[in-house]
Amino acid sequence: MGGSQLNLVVDGAIVESFDVHPKLSELRRAQREYAPDLDLYEAELQCPGCGAVISEETRFAAYKDQLLCKSCADMQVAESPAGSDLTVTNDPTKSPLGMSDLYHKRLVDWNVNIATGCSHGCSFCYVPGTPQIRTQKRRLKDAADVDDSAAEWGDYVLYRDDAPERLRRQLQKKASGGFQGWNRTDEGRGIVGLSFHTDCYQSPRGADITRACVRDLVEHDRHVRILTRSPNVLRDTDLFVDAGDHVTVGMSIPSLDDAALRSIETKAPPPSARLNALRELSDAGVQVYVSMGPTLPTQDKDDLRELLEELATLDPGVIFHEPLNPRGPNFERTVQSAREHGQDTLANTIADLEDVRTWREYAVEQLRWVHELGRELELPIYCWPTGELTSGAYASYAGWWREQESPEQFAGREPEWEIPPPLPSSAPKPRTSLADFGIE
Ligand code: SF4
Repeated sequence: MGGSQLNLVVDGAIVESFDVHPKLSELRRAQREYAPDLDLYEAELQCPGCGAVISEETRFAAYKDQLLCKSCADMQVAESPAGSDLTVTNDPTKSPLGMSDLYHKRLVDWNVNIATGCSHGCSFCYVPGTPQIRTQKRRLKDAADVDDSAAEWGDYVLYRDDAPERLRRQLQKKASGGFQGWNRTDEGRGIVGLSFHTDCYQSPRGADITRACVRDLVEHDRHVRILTRSPNVLRDTDLFVDAGDHVTVGMSIPSLDDAALRSIETKAPPPSARLNALRELSDAGVQVYVSMGPTLPTQDKDDLRELLEELATLDPGVIFHEPLNPRGPNFERTVQSAREHGQDTLANTIADLEDVRTWREYAVEQLRWVHELGRELELPIYCWPTGELTSGAYASYAGWWREQESPEQFAGREPEWEIPPPLPSSAPKPRTSLADFGIE
């Protein structure tokens, strides 16, 4: 692509011509179809706002799909897609690749977030409570008129449109040093996650950014873990198949009850659609895994068995499990959301978890059930007891899980075991006495 011609030239031949000011989605599509190496910083595109040539210095972002230099994009008012409460604009983050502490969950050592905010707006989501959101109050107010970043979670998304171009430069720099110093813990295995602070396939715009990032990571011999709730991920099946053992794709599937989950994951696709999408990926030969979290306090052992039997048919590399743990401002939000969507039993049961002892009993009971079912069904289970369980009565059981390795064969690890080992002696006993049920 070059000068005022706006022709995309591949191997000396014009493969596509564009209007003078092409849409960002058109350019990303052309990148997918003909020229994966197309770098929009180097394409000599002109900003329709100020006439500047778009480069690494000017950066770029989209407004109504129009590609603008960053400063012209920043002057635009945030968009709201017709019929939705969502506010969409752009994010100025310069370094898409950052280190992650999710190695302690055997997930990743690195994370690439393609946006700030998430349109799915799950009421229990931990992200609005993290420093990445809490420290951005001024930016969110200026860019998207956000007054309360936690209460309005799900109503704003700030995309990082030039994340692929910037990531490419970060990777090239690291590659020139032979990736010396690349953070690689035993638990996180140097894996890069997309994205653990947003859903990287929540929209076509997000998916375009994601695809280009994944491709560059794989080209640089990095292992990539994708986690999503969006069947949109299927559009990149070809990329994942080509990437072979460098990519694993996971879906969050904590329950098969569409109505219950819809009540607290109000804008996310239903779990039945996620299950079907993951099956399609698995059938295509893509390595898949499941995040069975957060499971709901209304799910008993039979429900969990039914879910695990269904998940087993996907042949997942690992099934991570985590019970629900709404805390802080998202506790009331989760109860209220369930109630507003007619799920009174779920709302009442979650409300009971405000008592920390009740929450601990529920969390440990579900962890134990999944552990037992994993052994019974011979499934590659890995449980995530949250930090609050690592002290107090259940500390030794939770600590035991944290010492276990994930059974997942990914990023160079051969598992020492494929099904969960027997319950350790520190595992809490099932509730059997009247006192255990609150009856004196
Ligand atoms: S999809 Fe993930 S990041 Fe998005 S709101 Fe739900 S839990 Fe949070």
